[in-house]
Amino acid sequence: MGEPIVYPPMPKPTPLTRHFWEGAADHRLVVLRCQACGFWLHPPRPICRRCRSWDVTPEEVSGRGELYTYTVTETPFHPYWACRVPYVVAVVTLEEQPDLRVITNVVDCPEEDLHVGLPLEVTYVEAAPGLTLPVFRPAA
Ligand SMILES: [Zn+2]
Repeated sequence: MGEPIVYPPMPKPTPLTRHFWEGAADHRLVVLRCQACGFWLHPPRPICRRCRSWDVTPEEVSGRGELYTYTVTETPFHPYWACRVPYVVAVVTLEEQPDLRVITNVVDCPEEDLHVGLPLEVTYVEAAPGLTLPVFRPAA
């Protein structure tokens, strides 16, 4: 008898976040962008925080960036993570804009190789049926 399958907490997409999850399912990293001034907005907001325009639309980003900060998590805060610790929770600055950052995981990287400024690229993890997570790995 095997262990029961434990799924991670599932996101509940809203009109403001649906593009992000649907993009991830297609292996595309999709971020809101102001169509009036070109500013990227993440976490998603209905109004551009630079020019106050409501004309914001999802666009795909390159998926390249660098490590801004990180922590190595040793404690599983949900049963899904019990067999996955330690894992890296990171903030990654995307190359499109200096303050455009995503909270994510870094995978395929020994802990001793992690450092602020490490070049990273997006990859995708099928975390559960219907849940694809964009995560980052050292850039090729
Ligand atoms: Zn704007």
